[in-house]
Amino acid sequence: MPMPTLEQIAEKVQQCTACPLHEGRKNAVPGEGNPNAELLFIGEGPGQREDETGRPFVGAAGKFLEELLGTIGKKREDVFIANVVKCRPPGNRDPFPDEVEMCTSLYLFEQIALIEPKLIVTLGRHSMRRFLPEDFQISKVHGQPFRRHGQVYLPVYHPAAALYQDSLRQILKSDFRKIPTILKKISAPS
Ligand code: URA
Repeated sequence: MPMPTLEQIAEKVQQCTACPLHEGRKNAVPGEGNPNAELLFIGEGPGQREDETGRPFVGAAGKFLEELLGTIGKKREDVFIANVVKCRPPGNRDPFPDEVEMCTSLYLFEQIALIEPKLIVTLGRHSMRRFLPEDFQISKVHGQPFRRHGQVYLPVYHPAAALYQDSLRQILKSDFRKIPTILKKISAPS
């Protein structure tokens, strides 16, 4: 089977009924951005605003993400932004492991294969867990790049966690400051 395009994946996501999360959604949120992005940001799942609009990170956490992107000279159109689950978990509960497994296997891994980002920035624990070893603790590994199966990942705290905690805001800003150097290193001939 030929690889689908990002648009075809988005269409499939919008019609998906593969797990119970589809039952409560207004809109699925496939993800959006530059199809050739060097940087792919992966969050947890849609919240209320995202569910209403069908777009990722458009609420308060999204505003902070945009601010963080600004600190490294990027706009949201420059990067790609997605989530490990594409439909809003009821009451904003954490997504269940089987929901994450199903949704990433059906959609996110294909999106990654098409975008071929240089660096995947995982936002928060749930996203980190899907790509990095299970025993990783975000408090210990945030801001450090890891290479796994040829792909480089940078785990950072979720921007929503930092909204009401200034110390986390500062940590996120300092972790984002490392991104340009990490990208340069990835591009440098070995
Ligand atoms: N939080 C997420 O993890 N993803 C979104 O799209 C919005 C908020």
